[in-house]
Amino acid sequence: MAPDQNSDANAAREDEGMLGKARSSLSAACDRLNIHPDVFEELKLPRETLYATLLIRMDDGSRRAFKAWRCRYNDRRGPTKGGVRFHANVSRDEVETLAFWMTFKCAVANLPFGGGKGGVCVDTKALSTVELERLSRAYIEAFAPFIGQDRDIMAPDMYTNGIVIAWMSDEYSSISGQASPSAITGKPLAFGGTVGRVDATARGGYYALRQLESVLEIDPNTATVAIQGFGNVGYHCAKLLHADGYRIVAVTDSSGGIYDAEGLDPLAVMQHKHETGSVTGAAGHGSTREITNAELLELDCDILIPAALERQITMDNWERIKAPIILEMANGPISPEADTKLAEKGFKIIPDILANAGGVTVSHLEWVQNRSGFYWDESRVRDQLKSTMETEAQAIWALHNEMNLSLRDAAYVHGLRRIAQSVEARGTQAYFEDT
Ligand code: NAD
Repeated sequence: MAPDQNSDANAAREDEGMLGKARSSLSAACDRLNIHPDVFEELKLPRETLYATLLIRMDDGSRRAFKAWRCRYNDRRGPTKGGVRFHANVSRDEVETLAFWMTFKCAVANLPFGGGKGGVCVDTKALSTVELERLSRAYIEAFAPFIGQDRDIMAPDMYTNGIVIAWMSDEYSSISGQASPSAITGKPLAFGGTVGRVDATARGGYYALRQLESVLEIDPNTATVAIQGFGNVGYHCAKLLHADGYRIVAVTDSSGGIYDAEGLDPLAVMQHKHETGSVTGAAGHGSTREITNAELLELDCDILIPAALERQITMDNWERIKAPIILEMANGPISPEADTKLAEKGFKIIPDILANAGGVTVSHLEWVQNRSGFYWDESRVRDQLKSTMETEAQAIWALHNEMNLSLRDAAYVHGLRRIAQSVEARGTQAYFEDT
């Protein structure tokens, strides 16, 4: 193959997958903003991605191999930061795309971090507790030289809960031969975690929404809300909004969902989920009926909150979406193609890189506390989170108006400008040409 054909083939391969799509949007944003080409050159590919095969002994004595990755996408603004996901669909493309989004999320929240992410291709439900512990420790054993408080800071993500993070933190301290709490955030309190982390992601989205309440013309006393996913994020969102008068009319989880026009009490629904394993069957204030996830997304309500999985709103269902405001608490719940269509129709989408940035914002506060050895009380953590979310939501709303951009594009522009400054501060082509 001639060299130019080779590079064309490489370029085509690069543009495949989720990261390829994210890169195309970035390229368009760089052109529109007249950002220096050096910035796109830095951001178009991850800085480094490490692959490892994790080999663990199963309870029946057999040996099993699991694919694992850790990506440091870009570290211009500081050490890379991002969760570790345990899920059967994890792939290199997914890990790198999530690390790309983290780069922008950290910049949007103005944190001194770049973006990173990790994952293991595994169905944790098929593992025993001891197998899960072995896998968690094996992940750290494989990636210990890659991470660290000033290099790459890990955190929880899907199916890596507090105990998994505690095992990982414990293993990292054993390998490094010293207590090293600031290399991993999202730790249980007894392991050096911070107060206020459990509901931080939901609370961050709640502060952003409340900040935009008047410009979005939301009346909390009449607004109706549907929430997809009733886990950590979905439940705490429901609780906070319900306490302020919003009417939660529908919630779903992986087993199905419920709708009640008169409203649901999130505490009672969670109590039912604890007892039965699902939200289905819980009673609301009126006549409660069961609904599917597809029905929830298409409900005629004021605010839709996807808080479960990626790619829930796609070209297959975007035309049936009715909620004029969407608060994206999950990462990437709307496909790029559906997002364009919805934005053209005037839907207001508060994008994931702003809406769910509360988690990493409080993770940053955990890292600060671990490094200083001085621990804050909950009101200080909440005040700092509130201030960050309100400031950044306000700035993104202003950009949305000034530049006539969708809220998502405005959020990317906001983050991109900060990343661009850190790249340009090191000198661009023009500087070196002159010297
Ligand atoms: P979680 O595991 O606590 O809850 C996930 C919920 O989604 C569960 O209720 C599950 O039953 C439900 N679910 C799974 N499949 C579903 C389906 N097909 N339809 C409807 N519901 C389904 O997870 P979480 O921490 O609440 O995270 C939710 C989302 O928020 C994820 O996209 C995650 O990446 C994102 N997020 C979480 C954090 C955080 O701090 N927890 C931070 C940033 C982003």
